[in-house]
Amino acid sequence: MATLQLAQRIVGTEAEGPGRRAALWVQGCSLRCPGCCNPELFTAQGGTATDVDALARALLADGTLEGISLLGGEPTEQAEGCAALAAAVQRGGLSVMLYTGYTLAELRAQKSPHVDALLGHCDLVVDGRYERDQHDTTRRWIGSKNQTLHFLSPRYRADDPRFAAPNTIELRLDRGGVTVNGWPRESDLVWRRR
Ligand code: SF4
Repeated sequence: MATLQLAQRIVGTEAEGPGRRAALWVQGCSLRCPGCCNPELFTAQGGTATDVDALARALLADGTLEGISLLGGEPTEQAEGCAALAAAVQRGGLSVMLYTGYTLAELRAQKSPHVDALLGHCDLVVDGRYERDQHDTTRRWIGSKNQTLHFLSPRYRADDPRFAAPNTIELRLDRGGVTVNGWPRESDLVWRRR
């Protein structure tokens, strides 16, 4: 039974990839890029152990989702669970978008069966470390200029107008407080720091 250590999930976001998606932030990232917007996810300690089969069933039953986005943290450091989830939801018709701090070349060089299986079930991959001095405000869903959006399946096309639309952020208010997700502009970052 595969599990994932999840730090956060938002089911029904439109700010973390094309269409309405489930965004899943995994706990733990050994890359620790300076300027990372989720430093609380560096440690592998924390988050919630989540059964992948049950999660996949719930996401497929939602009925409103175009796909899932795997973020972090570093999803490829939990490749077995992410691959199992990606395979299950893709079989059910959802798309899979992966954000990884490793480059695709680095991931393929690992020759890890679980990483290869995960990549085999990804439609979109944004790869590469976040480089603070190369911060990118022009490309949607991409953090720094060294990163690349890869189309690993025919499901999406680069000329899809959604890829050229402006980035967005979402704010949610519930009993647990305020949750902010998405890709803020520089002016939003200034506002958040105040
Ligand atoms: S790879 Fe991503 S999650 Fe990991 S430190 Fe870099 S920006 Fe943060």
